[in-house]
Amino acid sequence: DQAALETPVDQLSSTLQSVFGYRTFREGQREVIEQICAGQDCLVIMPTGGGKSLCYQLPALVLPGLTVVVSPLISLMKDQVDSLIQTGVSAAYLNSSQPREESLQVLQKMRYGELKLLYVSPERLLQASFIDRLHELNVSLFAIDEAHCISQWGHDFRPEYAALGQLRQQFPYVPIMALTATADKATRADICERLTITPHSLLTSFDRPNIRYTVAEKLNAANQLRQFIAAQNGTSGIVYCSSRRRVDEVAERLRLQGHQAEAYHAGKTQEERADVQDRFLKDQLDIVVATVAFGMGINKSNVRYVVHYDIPKSVEAYYQETGRAGRDGLDSEALMLFDPADIGRVRHLIEQSEPGPQQQVEFHKLNTMAAFAEAQTCRRQVLLHYFDEPANQACGNCDICLDPPKKYNGIQDAQKVLSCIYRIGQRFGINHLIEVLRGSKSASVIERGHDKLSTWGIGKEKSHEHWLSVIRQLIHLGLANQDITRGSSVTLNPSARAVLKGEVELLLAEPRIVIQTTKRRSTN
Ligand code: ADP
Ligand code: ZN
Repeated sequence: DQAALETPVDQLSSTLQSVFGYRTFREGQREVIEQICAGQDCLVIMPTGGGKSLCYQLPALVLPGLTVVVSPLISLMKDQVDSLIQTGVSAAYLNSSQPREESLQVLQKMRYGELKLLYVSPERLLQASFIDRLHELNVSLFAIDEAHCISQWGHDFRPEYAALGQLRQQFPYVPIMALTATADKATRADICERLTITPHSLLTSFDRPNIRYTVAEKLNAANQLRQFIAAQNGTSGIVYCSSRRRVDEVAERLRLQGHQAEAYHAGKTQEERADVQDRFLKDQLDIVVATVAFGMGINKSNVRYVVHYDIPKSVEAYYQETGRAGRDGLDSEALMLFDPADIGRVRHLIEQSEPGPQQQVEFHKLNTMAAFAEAQTCRRQVLLHYFDEPANQACGNCDICLDPPKKYNGIQDAQKVLSCIYRIGQRFGINHLIEVLRGSKSASVIERGHDKLSTWGIGKEKSHEHWLSVIRQLIHLGLANQDITRGSSVTLNPSARAVLKGEVELLLAEPRIVIQTTKRRSTN
């Protein structure tokens, strides 16, 4: 009969369909939502594009009271609230950029229990008067988006987030959901400790199989970038650089090469930045060249490539930034240009900072980033391992898997370099060393009489880039040293002696001068 046919559809599924228009939950969503509805704290770690917002938006509709969402970004709040209102959900936001009348209206709605979801910035939430108001209401859930911002271990620590630790004392019975796309083990533990939650944790895979990771030795960065971008057929991409000056330079160069490219960094006005972001979203710009200031909260699904022109600050930052590619699930590229000397430079900067725990954290981050860049194993395996996710198989979709490093008998190359270092008195940097090897008649070579040395020109048959790569490997292998305290002079280590005498074998990796931009797999 009729009643038997009407098996009660569960409330979560029916809300999912009727309000959000989705037929099924994505991996992890139902589990989180059930836990929260049962009053349990949750730590949700899902990759970008995984569907984190639904994890608090749906409970907000099912639970009786108000759900407060903490978000660091005004633009993101506005986007989410706009689309919630469109689907008929009563949502609003409060932030510092808002006209006073507007915020008063929101507060009034909140007081009359007319709101299901309220987005606030952390500093706004923690204002004493606002906390008092919340105490007069029925708050069902606190959802803390971008929760890694609470941790100094995270890649984007924000002091205003640190104060969110008070929430638990203030509202001991309201469940807290912390959400982030990127948090390694230390960051996860730190988030829980700071929020004083012992959560049910949900971790979906960190893997972004549609992103192809490539780390290329930075040899002639400008050329390498030009070639790489030329192979991208005008699709959208982001190029990250470590300084504003570099950002401006690279953007200008790309424009001269005929690309629609704009610079984005903290030195630009608010309007200029909004304009760049807007045009990029509307596909009116191909490339945004940016410092790390760009990206958090940009919700552009068809970014086809992300380039790191300089080494990222940490593996987490790298994962987060590359994660902006391919949110639509289509094949995308992540290219990093890596110069080992950048590690020395960053290390030097950290050494200048105040000694203490924060400095140790920075050293640790840099070391893991360096280890990632220097690893000669599947990039994805290294990355997943970093997030404690087992990955037993090489991925088949990174530069190491697709084009395994080739080794050659490098003894002769090494002898040429090491003897040349010796001849020039261990007092010159890499560029001068290469000039002598390649038989340059530059002023600095002639002035010092280095064109008269027996090692002048012994490497002229190979390119500058080839020797750069060999020298870096010799440094990496501990045969030579680069002394940053003495103008980056290259010096010899005792172990060089055996190589010079030919007493040992030495395998070197063949330099990869051209970045492989293998044809994409078909994207449908
Ligand atoms: P995140 O915050 O984790 O980066 P979002 O919450 O922005 O991801 O969700 C990414 C996209 O996935 C959005 O377009 C969202 O509408 C969609 N989405 C989320 N959950 C589902 C679902 N269960 N079924 C289909 N699409 C979903
Ligand atoms: Zn791989």
